Amino acid sequence: MVKEKAYYDTLGVKPNAMTEEIKNSYQRLAVKYHPDKKPNEGEKFKLISQAYEVLSDPKKRDLYDRGGEQAIKEGGMGEGNFSSPTDIFDKFFGVGSCMNKEKRGKDKFHQLSVSLNDLYNGTSRKITQHKYVICKKCEGRGGKKGIVEKCTWCKGCGVLVLVHQIIPGIEEQRESICFNCGGEGKQINVKDRCKKCSGNKVIHDNQILEVHVNKGMKHGQKFVFTGEGDQKPGVETGDVVLVLNQKEYATYQRQDDNLMMKMEIKLVEALCGFKKPIETMDGRVLLITSYPGEVIKHGHLKNILNEGMPLQRDPTEKGLLIIQFIVTFPHNQWLPVKKLSFLEALLPPREKEEMITDDMKVVELEREPYRKYRGAAYQEDDGTRDGVQCQTS
Ligand SMILES: [Zn+2]
Ligand SMILES: [Zn+2]
Repeated sequence: MVKEKAYYDTLGVKPNAMTEEIKNSYQRLAVKYHPDKKPNEGEKFKLISQAYEVLSDPKKRDLYDRGGEQAIKEGGMGEGNFSSPTDIFDKFFGVGSCMNKEKRGKDKFHQLSVSLNDLYNGTSRKITQHKYVICKKCEGRGGKKGIVEKCTWCKGCGVLVLVHQIIPGIEEQRESICFNCGGEGKQINVKDRCKKCSGNKVIHDNQILEVHVNKGMKHGQKFVFTGEGDQKPGVETGDVVLVLNQKEYATYQRQDDNLMMKMEIKLVEALCGFKKPIETMDGRVLLITSYPGEVIKHGHLKNILNEGMPLQRDPTEKGLLIIQFIVTFPHNQWLPVKKLSFLEALLPPREKEEMITDDMKVVELEREPYRKYRGAAYQEDDGTRDGVQCQTS
């Protein structure tokens, strides 16, 4: 148990937080409350720095855990003895190599969810995207002309260096675009900032993008809106990319330009033929018809030409419709024994079992369908055992 947790609360972490967690939390909060960003939150910025200074040092953290703020003061860390918040901040964020300046904005990716039906019939969609556009009032300067100074965070480099712990004892330096100036290396004094964009040079805007999903388009296919990404002064704007994401469909599965479906048929249909209607995704009805005399086997596939997905290059042509047949046997049903020979005569002959001898014990299959053993109740015999005879005669 720690004596007090005020410093932990300030950084929004639990008293058992790892050092890396404390560092990450400080990084997030210090960027948020830095006087360059929030000029009225100086006190908060100071408290964050003090909490970090104590909790990031194992000796001071131990002292605080055992004796609270009182112990920190008595240990020589009175109010005047904390490092300046700016010094802590500057030490945390190293200055980068000045080489990695952003030249082109990032491309933005969005998912465009469509059904198989949409890809079969084609569709149009309107998507609202939130984006940053250059502030018209200050023309992206962030303030009046000629009031720009060097960014104090990155010292004009536009790049900050952060130390990340990969595993305890192993650290890695990572460069990041400066959180203050966005990589420009310049900043504007609070009082000179543009009122419209608060010196950010960009403002939030909503934009409507319209797409036409053509017949036959595929999952993962992309729509590129060149130069419609977030705007930033002095940086080439990136693209917006919409990626088609096809939702699962109950009846059909798509396989490239083909459609695949499962069709249940009864044993009688598998043996004696069938006609079965199915609805296509454009609202037509196809009557699936078997060849007279053809036996359809369970699990087998059959093609229907030109009823798959429309081809993107020519939607009047379509791929295959592939049907997989699921043959269902008569469920819990008996056949008239006397007529079995008619059926047998139509089927390929069974193989003769040559190993049968007279001294074998004849055992019968249970008349009831399979069930789990339930003690004495399972043993009951209802006395009707005809019908089973044909299997042993
Ligand atoms: Zn502005
Ligand atoms: Zn900067």
